[in-house]
Amino acid sequence: MIDPYGGRLVERELPEAARARRDAERGHLVTVHPPIDQLYDAEKIGIGAYSPLEGFMDAETVRSVAATGRLPNGLPWSIPIHFPVPPGTPSASSVRAGDEVGLLDGQDRLIAVLHVEETFPIDRRALARATYGTDDPAHPNVADLLAGGETAWAGPVDLVHRLLPPWERDEPTPAETRAEFSRRGWSRVAAYQCRNPPHTAHEYIQRLTLEREDVDGLLIHPVVGRLKKGDYRPEVILQAYDALVRHYYPADRVLMSPLTITMRYGGPKAALFLAIVRRNYGCGVYIVGRDQAGVGKYYDPYACHRVFDAFDIGVLPVRYEESFFCRRCGWMASGRTCVHPASERAETSQSRIREALASGAPLPPEILRPEVAEVLRRPNVTIV
Ligand SMILES: [Zn+2]
Repeated sequence: MIDPYGGRLVERELPEAARARRDAERGHLVTVHPPIDQLYDAEKIGIGAYSPLEGFMDAETVRSVAATGRLPNGLPWSIPIHFPVPPGTPSASSVRAGDEVGLLDGQDRLIAVLHVEETFPIDRRALARATYGTDDPAHPNVADLLAGGETAWAGPVDLVHRLLPPWERDEPTPAETRAEFSRRGWSRVAAYQCRNPPHTAHEYIQRLTLEREDVDGLLIHPVVGRLKKGDYRPEVILQAYDALVRHYYPADRVLMSPLTITMRYGGPKAALFLAIVRRNYGCGVYIVGRDQAGVGKYYDPYACHRVFDAFDIGVLPVRYEESFFCRRCGWMASGRTCVHPASERAETSQSRIREALASGAPLPPEILRPEVAEVLRRPNVTIV
């Protein structure tokens, strides 16, 4: 199995005794309530999903990532993982290097302790341009960045408690997915990044990957972080995938598990970041479809393919063009395998599927498996 990024899996989850001590002594900590995105990041650092990061980035590292796409040691890294101090935090201005800050969730559970080694100002617009190629506040991550603090705290993170998922399903750590892959005898695992229920074009590239003789198994790893209006609820995405896996895939070749991080719609940089994260979970192969991690018209839909030529992260990218069901071919296809005009292609866009679901119109199996459609036709599947 591929080794973790940087060679070693970071594990900063405190053992039981240290956890109890932290809880007992939390009255001595400065505490803050960061946005959920930053708690996800703290948790992912703690369980090693962001190896080799041991904590939130310092000024030099943020500068290096923004300017060169690499950590100061030269390892490719495309998305800054820094900790903007939440605006309006009363005690924030008193925090200095050497202090410890407790990060609390909405229920005041102590999620992590940040050992502050540096405080530094963030040029939010410049960072947005360097990371997302734009400072347009219509870009969701740029909006977050501009709304966040102008000062950052950097330093190692100790994970005290895992976040409580809003659904009844465990989220395995990188150590746990690696152990599960070993138990199944998988050494070469492909990761599939997604954030929506599966339609046939998704299934097609998953199947093509499973057909490869150099792939033992597939990790379907939906990003189900912070939600916005109109998104499918995480449990719906997971149930839709459950239905697909149960009815159509060999159970011993596919594993599905949620990944709670905030989706960075950074096009190529986000694709690279998401692949690095999957390497930590044990995946040496990474599926890259068209316009992965894109939003609006900010990115060339195939820049997410080319970025893997510019930066070697040790993961084999398996790149696919846009696929579709062609009525003339009577098959799933892409521009590489089908000669027919667009009018012959069944459109599988999420907007088309949502319209059909909303109106009760039938969705042909060429677009959506009936067992998946059944899940999506239940009430309250999206965030209102
Ligand atoms: Zn065709």
